[in-house]
Amino acid sequence: MNILANYPPTEELQAIDSAHHMHPFTHNSALADKGARVITSAKGVWLKDSEGEEIIDGMAGLWCVNIGYGRTELAEAAARQMRELPFYNTFFQTTTVPALMLAKKLAELAPGDLNNVFFANGGSDANDTNLRMVRTYWAEKGQPDRDVVISRWNAYHGSSMGSASLGGMKGMHGQGGLPIPGITYIDQPDWWSEGGDMTPEDFGLERAQQLEAKIKEIGPEKVAAFIAEPIQGAGGVIIPPTTYWPEIQRICKKYDILLIADEVICAFGRTGNWFGSQTLGIQPDIMTVAKGLSSGYIPIGASIVSDRVAAVIRDTDFNHGYTYSGHPVACAVALENLRIIEEEDIINQVRNVTGPYLRKKWEALADHPLVGEAKIVGMIGSIALTPDKASRAAFAVEGGAIGLLCRDQCFANNIIMRSVDDRMVISPPLTITCDEIDILIARAIKSLDETYAKLKAGGMLVSA
Ligand SMILES: *Cc1c(COP(=O)(O)O)cnc(C)c1O
Repeated sequence: MNILANYPPTEELQAIDSAHHMHPFTHNSALADKGARVITSAKGVWLKDSEGEEIIDGMAGLWCVNIGYGRTELAEAAARQMRELPFYNTFFQTTTVPALMLAKKLAELAPGDLNNVFFANGGSDANDTNLRMVRTYWAEKGQPDRDVVISRWNAYHGSSMGSASLGGMKGMHGQGGLPIPGITYIDQPDWWSEGGDMTPEDFGLERAQQLEAKIKEIGPEKVAAFIAEPIQGAGGVIIPPTTYWPEIQRICKKYDILLIADEVICAFGRTGNWFGSQTLGIQPDIMTVAKGLSSGYIPIGASIVSDRVAAVIRDTDFNHGYTYSGHPVACAVALENLRIIEEEDIINQVRNVTGPYLRKKWEALADHPLVGEAKIVGMIGSIALTPDKASRAAFAVEGGAIGLLCRDQCFANNIIMRSVDDRMVISPPLTITCDEIDILIARAIKSLDETYAKLKAGGMLVSA
């Protein structure tokens, strides 16, 4: 009998989970005490758990289910491809139809001369590819010393040794001997927390100019690339001031530094365009994509590479690749996902209808007594929780504790919002309707009200 078709009740599932399953980014024994919530099915923007509760998914899974749950077309694309050709590699002078077709499709969609695709299984290993590729690029150009990559504190680029080193998460660097050599960091453009008395515009410039200072400190002849997310996701949905990206772009051009845009969250409609780079006015040399590429239905990632960089890499043996680079089933699913996004005009819907509708309601959350700034672009937004808006204060209690409290309150109200420190973030499926946005916002307000009441009762509305 198929064990997945007739599984035991919740408590038994939770016991099995806590006995054998090690969850990522989790204090597993603390989770074992509570028991993990078992998600059993989903449709559209709605999750269902093993107790039959219906939860609105304000996070599109993990920033990835762009077209929503339950699209049988993707299941059929996978089944068709599995029957036809479940696997073949692309290492040994062979290719497959789904891999080459998806590469062509991505080249058509990506702006400028980003015409070349190197496949991975997700965002982490695509960024590992990028790290090796930019260093190989400069080495092949006769500049092997040009190997330093500049990134940003609080950036997230993945969880492998290379990609977690590219990321600037101090909690990750603290475990397992990270970062690897040759990666250095500048500060993030988070005006709310770090902008002090500056205007957002001046602060955006100041943070961008840290890149120039860092390049000069290292020596431009030693810098290979700068990597950044157009909008930081896992770092708390930090939407940079408008002055930031144009200045970054100017500096990269001036010193001939390759620019890697990590679009793992921003791509495929999240910001109201195909790519976040288009929304924020960035011209990258390499783009990292994953997540929304398959709407999370199957693991796949890719580096989309400019003609300039690809010309050099194509002219050498690049000793790099993954068994599942260009996996035919994953590529077939991704192609079907992109077809749906295109044919159902999902991105225009986000840009012109649901995005503006959500934006109005989201920005109004700034009037809530617990909320400082409320920012959103397309279908990715955040609010900063604060005990005192005027001074943009942090809470006196340990950073992140209030966010977790609010996150748990959301969970109890059957809405998924994630907390990052004391920010709450959303990134719902792009297919969310205006009626569903009303539900999302109503539940968010209820959760904020309840969190506020708890903090007030506990005397915790105190500034650091
Ligand atoms: C999720 C994410 C990654 C890592 O992708 P995985 O598929 O988890 O390896 C990399 N970069 C960004 C910006 C991400 O959000």
